[in-house]
Amino acid sequence: MAVFNFGSINIDHVYSVPHFVQPGETLSSSSYQSILGGKGANQSVALAKANNNVFHVGAIGSSDSGFIEQMKEAGVNCEFIREMSDVASGHAIIQVTPDAENNIILFGGANQCISDDHIASALATAKPNDWVLLQNETNAIDKIITEAHKRQLHIAFNPAPMTESVKQLPLDKLTLLVVNEVEAEQLTGENDVEAIKRSLKSNYPNTKVLLTLGKAGVWFFEADNEEFCAAFKVKAVDTTAAGDTFIGFFLAAYQANKSIAEALKYACAASALAVMKAGAAPSIPSVDEVIAFLQ
Ligand code: ATP
Repeated sequence: MAVFNFGSINIDHVYSVPHFVQPGETLSSSSYQSILGGKGANQSVALAKANNNVFHVGAIGSSDSGFIEQMKEAGVNCEFIREMSDVASGHAIIQVTPDAENNIILFGGANQCISDDHIASALATAKPNDWVLLQNETNAIDKIITEAHKRQLHIAFNPAPMTESVKQLPLDKLTLLVVNEVEAEQLTGENDVEAIKRSLKSNYPNTKVLLTLGKAGVWFFEADNEEFCAAFKVKAVDTTAAGDTFIGFFLAAYQANKSIAEALKYACAASALAVMKAGAAPSIPSVDEVIAFLQ
């Protein structure tokens, strides 16, 4: 089985600054790094590191094609990533101060250029029981869900970052919805976990839900079943990409017909390892590391 991840690829341009740049000020940065990021790319890397067959479907500016090589090296199939000569890559300009505060300018760029023929050409190669995965950092989410549903593919959606427009999407067509607590509150208008569960079960009775609660753990629920898995107690260094790692390892285990309890524990272990290391994609563990952690 394969996962077709219609996802963002962002280049994070990270500048170390003594303070955030002020209006009218020109400020020198003492260091600069450009790093592969975006929820889409992170989730593709997590799936690949979990030994899943993942096709990333997305777009990037042609001058940044080196980042495609990084995704390939992680094991992601990149044949459906289009290189665009006339559009900049999705990117973030990130200022980081000595006390680790940051501020971010985000530009969607090529991530907002997924076209109908791009969707059709990727989905034409999907086979029954394959999955389509989406986050909320690209355009055409509605169209992708509708087309994947027509082809009877499984659909997983992680509506991050949450926007009002998510409520208008055909969420009843999803196989799996993955939300953290903030996203779940925004989606349902409820602010405690039991009320969120009741609301999602009644609004989307055919959809399975993963409600991740950071260091508290995760709920899995569907209409007539629910299971909780506590997070592992670890020393968190950087929680970036915890959710992306969780999704990659959960989907890999779920597709391999592991029980829900096993898939939850496996994904909790992978994301616990991710929070113990700095960075996004570089913090995502290998299968061997997860297995060793669970022993
Ligand atoms: P992010 O946006 O940072 O990628 P998220 O908000 O989508 O994350 P979270 O709910 O914070 O997702 O975390 C996903 C899973 O990662 C949790 O269910 C838990 O298993 C694990 N996790 C997150 N934070 C911690 C932590 N501090 N210690 C152990 N496990 C954690």
